Amino acid sequence: MIDIEGINRTANDYSAESGELGQDQRQQIMNVTDDLKHTVDSVSTVWSRLGLSDREAEVAAYRELGFTNKSIAYMLDISTNTVNEYTRRAKQKYNTARALLAREEDSQALSKNWVCPKPSCGHETKRAYTNSKYNPDTNVSTWRCQECHTEYQRKIQSPDA
Ligand SMILES: [Zn+2]
Repeated sequence: MIDIEGINRTANDYSAESGELGQDQRQQIMNVTDDLKHTVDSVSTVWSRLGLSDREAEVAAYRELGFTNKSIAYMLDISTNTVNEYTRRAKQKYNTARALLAREEDSQALSKNWVCPKPSCGHETKRAYTNSKYNPDTNVSTWRCQECHTEYQRKIQSPDA
């Protein structure tokens, strides 16, 4: 078990107190990177698909596991400012990628016909007849297949969400 919260606390407490970790604590935190290598490799692969660089994807993977930027700085032996910058760029690229994904879905929404995503159904119908609804309070759009009556929902996300 890797105590991620414990590592975060150590990284935060020591850097707040003295500005620097002792050699022992630093080594302890850096050792965790070996234990996590496989996990971080596979998670960062997913992040790279969104156009993140290797380093940005690595930082994103550590953050996804629950590490703070201060912890990540010690684990990768780089400055917290550098981790902050990787994080900032990763977020930017992620938002752009997500916006593009949403736009692709939206462009499908502009087409005349709609195909039911349920594999056993696949009913094709005019989009205008899918009983689609949009709730402006929740930003959720809903539509229903007139053949199998399955209801589908999609949250409309703004790129800056
Ligand atoms: Zn259907």
